[in-house]
Amino acid sequence: MSTDIDSIAFPTLTQQEINILSKIAQCTEFADGEYVFRAGESQADLFVVREGAIEIINPHENDKTVVVHGVGNFTGDIDILTGRPVLVDGIARGVTRCCRIPSSKLQEVLTKVPRLSEKLLVAFQQRRQLLTEVGKLGLSVVGYARCHHTTVIREFLHRNFVPHHFLDVETMDEDELRSLNCGETFPVVRCLNKSDLVQPTPRDVAEAAGIWRHCPSQKVDVAIVGAGPAGIAAAVYSASEGLSTVVLDSIGPGGQAGASSKIENFIGFPSGLSGTDLATRGILQMLKFGAKMVAPVVVTKLEPPSKGNCYHSLHLDCGAIIKARVVLVATGVKWRKLEAKNADVFERAGVYYACTAVEALLHDGEDVVVVGAGNSAGQAAMYLSECCPTRTVHMVVRNQFGPSMSEYLCARIRSSHNIRVHEGANVTEIHGKDGLIERVTIVEKDGSSKDRPAAAVFVFIGSEPCTNWLPAEMAKDEKGFVLTGLQVINANKWPLTSREPCPLETSVPGIIAAGDVRSGSTKRVGFAVGDGSQAVSCIHTLLTLAEDCAMPIPDEVVDAVKMVKEAAV
Ligand SMILES: Cc1cc2nc3c(=O)[nH]c(=O)nc-3n(C[C@H](O)[C@H](O)[C@H](O)COP(=O)(O)OP(=O)(O)OC[C@H]3O[C@@H](n4cnc5c(N)ncnc54)[C@H](O)[C@@H]3O)c2cc1C
Repeated sequence: MSTDIDSIAFPTLTQQEINILSKIAQCTEFADGEYVFRAGESQADLFVVREGAIEIINPHENDKTVVVHGVGNFTGDIDILTGRPVLVDGIARGVTRCCRIPSSKLQEVLTKVPRLSEKLLVAFQQRRQLLTEVGKLGLSVVGYARCHHTTVIREFLHRNFVPHHFLDVETMDEDELRSLNCGETFPVVRCLNKSDLVQPTPRDVAEAAGIWRHCPSQKVDVAIVGAGPAGIAAAVYSASEGLSTVVLDSIGPGGQAGASSKIENFIGFPSGLSGTDLATRGILQMLKFGAKMVAPVVVTKLEPPSKGNCYHSLHLDCGAIIKARVVLVATGVKWRKLEAKNADVFERAGVYYACTAVEALLHDGEDVVVVGAGNSAGQAAMYLSECCPTRTVHMVVRNQFGPSMSEYLCARIRSSHNIRVHEGANVTEIHGKDGLIERVTIVEKDGSSKDRPAAAVFVFIGSEPCTNWLPAEMAKDEKGFVLTGLQVINANKWPLTSREPCPLETSVPGIIAAGDVRSGSTKRVGFAVGDGSQAVSCIHTLLTLAEDCAMPIPDEVVDAVKMVKEAAV
């Protein structure tokens, strides 16, 4: 491990920094060999070593030493912010005296002491990076690599940046499998406390990984539905401006961007970054300012305020109801499914609607097919061709190659030695057995069809807005995208006469929308982030309007909403 990374990941605090932290700390002493904390404990505190040392041990790698924190060093990684269970053990070496800072108090330092905050946050992120490179860490997922259920769990853990290690039953010998003693039904998730979850749901896994703690039911200033780039950007601004903010997502942070292996056209990252990396940074930022993240949870219904009340009600699939003064709809789009024969049979077991390290590495060395003509398809084709130069990537484009893709990507694909573009073609059937894809039928422009050997199909063929859960009275365009601001006025759908809608406000007063879900949005990360950032000025306007929360909502608003509701029936 190079010294530069060391000094970033494990910096020594200055006396001045220790003084700042001591003000909010409690002094604790540990005997030699005593556990300071154990893997699996959640809501971990930060420990600054004043005397002695703390050895950090990875219990999943035969108690291998990760690092020893000496005087002036501190413990912790991003889980201090997320509140998730600790992944490693900490043991005192020699009599050890520490300053102990509870994570709730740490937030204050992170928002009020920028230089110290930067040192801590950069160290936390670097440590998490180093830990994920360790390989054998956190939860174990045991299953068949090309199994739908296993991929669902792995994608979920990847999207929620939960370190885990995967054991492919296919490549294990009998002794190894027997030694795991996890039965014959897969996938199995082995938790930090050594208990096993057999064929768990994402929520079961979320509970085991400490992502999901309980069904939330608080009252907040702002509830944000969707943790894609738009939702996260809005949460960073609203929380940093002191508003109580909760972000709800059906899977976890990142949204569509989380499905991207490399985003190269988002400003500020010249060499590009993966969608998961972008999302993790955004989540840390919003958590630093006190926003809350809840996943996996689906918002199934949204009710505007009733008479004499000014809270919207968000109904969650876990049965709880969240009350919010302003709601931001940032639910983006979901990907259109491939209509080829057997595409549903191999979904997430060979047919994928994302292309991250999880899916791409499953089919190393084998030919694959990418369906689609936009940036996401182009990126996936480049990523798959570069991570395995010996494979052929068949790119199937229904119409012309090029017009709907950024020029830099087109140029790279045209000059790639192992991407073959099939223009004006279609995938009609997927062939395989025992859960494994073997061939894909591609019908060419001239009508001829050929079965191409391939082990996976990556699909990016357009999208539909995630709006079917929204109130019927909310105005949408012909494709189902949400109308906002001027669009609502132009469509004559604005119910109030006392004021105009703010730029991102939907036709239901007090509910705003941002990102890809909006009608006319540009379907880019930068645009979504811009929208999410702009949302906060709307939020302040609406909160000012609803300031006298005790004051009943003007009859005009309630009657207008009632009228539109009746008109919508
Ligand atoms: C593979 C891929 C690669 C891409 N590459 C690029 C690129 O290089 N550059 C670029 O600029 N753009 C790229 N894009 C587009 C970009 O990712 C999107 O424009 C952006 O993610 C839109 O952000 P959003 O926040 O509006 O919505 P989304 O990212 O779609 O996020 C919406 C979120 O809402 C959640 N959600 C939906 N309904 C509910 C509900 N009822 N309850 C709870 N949660 C819900 C979803 O789980 C999702 O996480 C790519 C997209 C894909 C799929």
